Amino acid sequence: MNDTDRIKKPESTIPVQTLRRIPYYHQILSDLEQKGERFVSSKYLAHFFRVDDTQVRKDVSVIGYKGKPKSGYSVSGLKQAIGDFLGINTENTAILIGAGKLGSALVEYPGLNEYGLKTVAVFDKDPKKLDRKIGAFTVQPLEKLAEIVQSFDVGIAIITVPKEAAQAICDLVVKQNIKAIWNFAPTQLSAPADVTIRNENMAVGLALLSHYLKKRTAESAIFS
Ligand code: NAD
Repeated sequence: MNDTDRIKKPESTIPVQTLRRIPYYHQILSDLEQKGERFVSSKYLAHFFRVDDTQVRKDVSVIGYKGKPKSGYSVSGLKQAIGDFLGINTENTAILIGAGKLGSALVEYPGLNEYGLKTVAVFDKDPKKLDRKIGAFTVQPLEKLAEIVQSFDVGIAIITVPKEAAQAICDLVVKQNIKAIWNFAPTQLSAPADVTIRNENMAVGLALLSHYLKKRTAESAIFS
């Protein structure tokens, strides 16, 4: 990126809605890049989020990037700036624990590489699963976890074990000094304050969708 494209350093307090939109801008820009588009307007980006183009320009200024007045934002320049802001332009090494249905699907999903995630090992406790192949990985016993975390300098642990086992796995990876956990088990994990936990739960998304649907039905019942 051209240095003159940078307008200011990212701000320390960023509105939550802006933070939520930023990864989606990245996704849209990737699609545009694949189609060979070189520039994108704030108006085009705005229509995906039902916000106006002023909001998009505010969002983009938060990450410290400026468009060219006439031609809009450079697709590759803005994508690079967002990637730098999110920390996905540099590789993050990960391990996955729980080589079941979800764990296997995640390991075999190539889309995560685009976000800088490099899985280096897969673990399970089931003796029947050990030594089996999942994608490029041979499933390994938990006894190997410490050695692998150290040799690959692992930064992220992906937890895809049943909820009853998740806290013990969380404790195990925290003990190995892993500071980021991507938790798919439907349970709240406890960890020291310097460990970031991202909970992923499709059912929560569905519950929110149901809530909006219910609200909308109630509103239309009131106003119709
Ligand atoms: P699964 O039974 O197919 O896989 C779980 C795997 O974890 C098995 O291979 C099992 O041997 C292993 N395991 C169990 N205890 C372990 C331990 N202590 N250490 C290491 N490995 C252990 O289940 P699944 O359908 O793949 O679901 C996995 C988890 O993801 C569950 O907690 C499930 O509720 C959750 N899930 C979340 C979402 C979501 O939206 N986030 C969607 C589907 C499933």
